[in-house]
Amino acid sequence: MKVISLKAKVIKDTRGDKTIEVTLKTSKGTFIASAPNGKSTGINEVPMWKKSLNGDIKTINDYFIEEINFNKFDDLKIIEDIFSSIIGGNSLIAIEFVFLKALAKQEEKEVWELINSHREKLNKFPMPVGNIMEGGLHSSSKIKPNFQEFHIIPIIASFEQAVKINKRAWENCREILKNIDKTFKGKTSDENAWITSLSDEQTIEVLKEVKDNMQDEFNRTIHIGMDIAASSFFKINKYIYKNPKSIKSKDEQIKYMQMLSKDFFYIEDPLEENDFEGFSKIKEKSANGTLIVGDDLTTTSVERIIAAKKRNSINGVIIKPNQIGSLLKVKEAVDYCKKNNIKTIFSHRSGETSENILADLAFGFGADFIKTGTCGKDRDEKLNRMIEIERSL
Ligand code: PEP
Ligand code: MG
Repeated sequence: MKVISLKAKVIKDTRGDKTIEVTLKTSKGTFIASAPNGKSTGINEVPMWKKSLNGDIKTINDYFIEEINFNKFDDLKIIEDIFSSIIGGNSLIAIEFVFLKALAKQEEKEVWELINSHREKLNKFPMPVGNIMEGGLHSSSKIKPNFQEFHIIPIIASFEQAVKINKRAWENCREILKNIDKTFKGKTSDENAWITSLSDEQTIEVLKEVKDNMQDEFNRTIHIGMDIAASSFFKINKYIYKNPKSIKSKDEQIKYMQMLSKDFFYIEDPLEENDFEGFSKIKEKSANGTLIVGDDLTTTSVERIIAAKKRNSINGVIIKPNQIGSLLKVKEAVDYCKKNNIKTIFSHRSGETSENILADLAFGFGADFIKTGTCGKDRDEKLNRMIEIERSL
C-alpha cells in the first residue's frame, strides 16, 4: 500500500471529552477513523495513550511511512510492530481502523469481508442490545440507579426490525417514566438512554413493563438485560449502594445478583472486576441460557477470558477493541470464545464518535450481539451500518 500521509488530531466525543481522529491518505483515497472513550473503564484495560493524547498525536504526525506491505487483515501485525510501543491503545486502534478502511478500498471489498471473506458462511447476524435507561457513572443525575445500563434485547431474524423494536421501547420508556418518576425531565445519559432518579428495583419494574408492552405490540419474544458495572460502586471490599443507601458485603452482592439474574437474559459485570470466583457462583445459580457477561472482568484480553472460562465465571464476553488496543488481539479473543462456546457482544464506549467500523467488526467476526445504544447520532451510525450490511446480503 502506498502511503501519502498519516496524520492525527484531537476531536471531541459525545460526552465532550477529547479523543483521537486519524486521517490516512493513500494512492486510493483519503480515509478517516477515530477511537471512542470509556468512563466505567476496567483497571486491566490497556493505557489509552502512551503518555498523553497530544504526545501520541505528535508521535503519529512525526512518523514517516511511505510504503507498507499491507494486503490482508493479518498484516495488521506490521502496523502493530511499528506503533504498539510508541503510542497508546486508543491511538493504535484508530490507526488500525483507518488502515483497514484503506485496505478495503484497495481490495474493492467491505471492511467486514477483510475479516471474513466467506460470505456464504456468515449465516448469523448479531442482535442489538438496546440500552434504554442509565444510572451509575453514565448518568449526570445526583439521585440515580446504582446499576449502569438497562437493556431491551429482541431475538428475531431481522436486525432492522430489532432496531425498530428497541427505538420504540426507548419511546415507550419515556412515556412510562413521565408518569412514575416525579423528577423525570426527559434528559438523556452518556449513551442517550433515559436518566431517571428511580432506584434499581423500580427501574427494573419499568424495564419489565416496557418489555411486556413491546412483546404485545410486536408479538415477539423480547429479553431484558443489565450492565451492573459493579466495579464502579465497589469500594474497600464492599458494594456501596446510594439509592437507596445500603452496603453489601461480597457474599451479599453475590446473593443479590443470584436473585436478580433469575428474571434476566443478560447480566454484565454483576461483581467487581477481579471476582472470578464470585461470577462463577452467580453463573452456577442462573437459569440455563442466562448470559453472565464479563466486561471489566475480561477487558477483551484472551488471558483474562481464559481465566474466566477455567473458573466457569462467564458465558458471554464484551469485546471493546480499544480496551485491548489491537485488532489481532480482538481476533484471538473472539476465536477463543467461539471454540469455547462463549457468546461475544461487540460494544461501543460511553463516549462515542461518528466512527461506524464497529458494525463491520461485529459482523465480520460473527458476533452474537452488538451493544451500541438505541438511538442518537453516533449510536445510529453503527446501527445504520449494520442495517446497510444486512440489506446487502
Ligand atoms: C460499558 O461498561 O459497557 C460501557 C460501554 O461503558 P464505558 O464505555 O464507559 O466503559
Ligand atoms: Mg460494561
